[in-house]
Amino acid sequence: MQWETVIGLEIHAQLATRSKIFSGASTAYGAEPNAQACAIDLGLPGVLPVLNAEAVRMAVKFGLAIDARIAPLSVFARKNYFYPDLPKGYQISQYELPVVQQGTLDIELEDGVCKTIGITRAHLEEDAGKSLHEDFHGMSGIDLNRAGTPLLEIVSEPDLRSAKEAVAYMKKLHALVRYLEICDGNMQEGSFRCDANVSVRPLGSEKLGTRAEIKNLNSFRFVERAINYEIERQIALLESGGAVVQETRLFDPDKGETRSMRSKEEANDYRYFPDPDLLQLEIDSGLIEQMRADLPELPDAKRQRFIKEYTLSAYDAGVLTATRELADFYEAVVKAAQGEPKLVANWVMGDFSAALNRDNLDIAQSPVSAVALAALLNRITDNTISGKIAKEVFEAMWAGEGEADAVIERKGLVQITDTSAISKVIDEVIAANPTQLAQYRSGKDKLFGFFVGQVMKQTQGKANPAQVNDLLKAKLAED
Ligand code: ADP
Ligand code: MG
Repeated sequence: MQWETVIGLEIHAQLATRSKIFSGASTAYGAEPNAQACAIDLGLPGVLPVLNAEAVRMAVKFGLAIDARIAPLSVFARKNYFYPDLPKGYQISQYELPVVQQGTLDIELEDGVCKTIGITRAHLEEDAGKSLHEDFHGMSGIDLNRAGTPLLEIVSEPDLRSAKEAVAYMKKLHALVRYLEICDGNMQEGSFRCDANVSVRPLGSEKLGTRAEIKNLNSFRFVERAINYEIERQIALLESGGAVVQETRLFDPDKGETRSMRSKEEANDYRYFPDPDLLQLEIDSGLIEQMRADLPELPDAKRQRFIKEYTLSAYDAGVLTATRELADFYEAVVKAAQGEPKLVANWVMGDFSAALNRDNLDIAQSPVSAVALAALLNRITDNTISGKIAKEVFEAMWAGEGEADAVIERKGLVQITDTSAISKVIDEVIAANPTQLAQYRSGKDKLFGFFVGQVMKQTQGKANPAQVNDLLKAKLAED
């Protein structure tokens, strides 16, 4: 039997507002437990929630970016359940009428084919607090700092067909919310996390299989591993005559497996009803149009523009537009370097990105600015230094030893382009290596590299490589 995998993702993106969705308490990460929980977050009697307008604007922005319908009228609902980290006994969410409805996101598959994934809805809701099970010997601690943090829950259609597709979709969304500056995307801190719904069905069948939901996956790698494990588990179960039960499961990264956490609740278990403490959310078309006009250039559009404007390959354009910061940096270097977009692309994706990675730095923390890098690349373009020497200069700049020209000057790295000077070195090298010369002339072409190496060695790598090649070829051919 051939099986087809069906996956739908629910992604929680923490909105980057300064205060919470229904209170004025700070959302900053890492404070002392319960230092950022006010009376509203604690669910004390006599207080009322007030909706944070910025959270609404962020949700609208997201909706516009995925070509969704922005509901002119949406409703906050209470989702009732008991848990120690939820002092009110309900979570305020949106249920029947979410603010963002029916959007789409295009993902690119490995073979370069583009696939459109439906986004059923994105709704606003508040996060719960955290239970702390370590450090409290036989008891649990409750930290309510996170309670009331605004979340955008983004729910996909069951359109994904493999773990790879699910990861591609999640990465695309991750880039998008960061481009829009509505979520910091920090997965370690839980600002962007995913529940994966997975089922399998006989290939060709229209009917969806029973799904399991894997909760709270907070890395792309875990999403991929958890889904692949789950697919195998379900197929093995079905092929041995068993049945998949609808349930919530947890992924254990150490064991690489998912295990049952609880049977799945149905929506009606939550006794959803409109929250009487909050007005219906009305969004007027003026705000929507203003937000549409203010949207930044989105990743797909930027990538297409890079391909056209800088004649980059689709691959290079994809790497350079992966984040807004990298794309901005690239464009700043191109502008300051007055051209050579491909040379700039190679350097930004190569030495520059490698140095950031090695030192674990963000672009904003880079010791070499876009203008400084451009000045270095201009010295390659105008033949002052070779690409190889430029790497040495770059490392010195990175280490704080000054601007490109200063480093080149101080270290005496200016390229030798004087033909007679290079010829002189070539003559010396040829005279000093008669054996190799004879071998070369009797047909051992490979020795050409040996002569190039000797010339470069004599000039400490400073001779212009193209000139060395040409002159050496001519001299070696002479009798
Ligand atoms: P909930 O999990 O809250 O009950 P839904 O029923 O709306 O919510 O589904 C949540 C997610 O599960 C959606 O992303 C949806 O595409 C996906 N989904 C629903 N049914 C299946 C299925 N049989 N197989 C895989 N994914 C599914
Ligand atoms: Mg769910």
